[in-house]
Amino acid sequence: MNWIWIVLILFWTGGFAWLADNARTALRNRHERKMELIEAAKQERLAVEAAHQPPEPVCGCTHHLAKHDKQGLCHERVEVPTAWDENKKPLRYEAAQCNCQRYVGPTPLSQVYAEDLTDRA
Ligand SMILES: [Zn+2]
Ligand SMILES: [Zn+2]
Repeated sequence: MNWIWIVLILFWTGGFAWLADNARTALRNRHERKMELIEAAKQERLAVEAAHQPPEPVCGCTHHLAKHDKQGLCHERVEVPTAWDENKKPLRYEAAQCNCQRYVGPTPLSQVYAEDLTDRA
């Protein structure tokens, strides 16, 4: 009768170890899958947020829309080279107004605030 117990115990311990190992692997796999899902959801949310963000209103002259007046003239101060060496490398700079004539960047949509329609009857 004793040998049956020995076989059973051997089987149990081996079987339990195998089961525990499998369970651990399964748990780890599930954890990894979950992390991947969370990561994918985060990426998706970031993409959606980026899609809803209006583009930066920056002109072709690299200056912000706010630096341009109503006529489109850019008022940003820029450094203009006033002297060059023989290699056409600027030697001296002078402050001047950006000579951009017209803002060509994206125009932000006007922010309109609409109050919620509510029934106040
Ligand atoms: Zn400009
Ligand atoms: Zn400019």
